[in-house]
Amino acid sequence: MTDDSVALYRRLVETNSCTPEEQAGPDAGVCPACQRKTLHQICHECMNPQCPDRLIAFAAERLRISTETEVSWCLRDRYHVSEAEAAEIIRQTKETDHDAD
Ligand SMILES: [Zn+2]
Repeated sequence: MTDDSVALYRRLVETNSCTPEEQAGPDAGVCPACQRKTLHQICHECMNPQCPDRLIAFAAERLRISTETEVSWCLRDRYHVSEAEAAEIIRQTKETDHDAD
């Protein structure tokens, strides 16, 4: 890489200006959970930080150690979802947990 491209790369990382689609790469797949072309071309993980799959995985982890109120607050603060969206994510998380029993 030239000095210019290193500087550009640093700026992109620091300003976090690349989209989840750009992070996922030109051969990305379409994520079944969020319907965006954000499934990483190599690791097949969704790059969309607001993907319902990621939010549900996060909520499932937090619900083991926190109350629903705390998890709802955390989802809203960290992922910038609305209160209703947070409630829906928690509902889906509990449904998923119940299915696994
Ligand atoms: Zn996704």
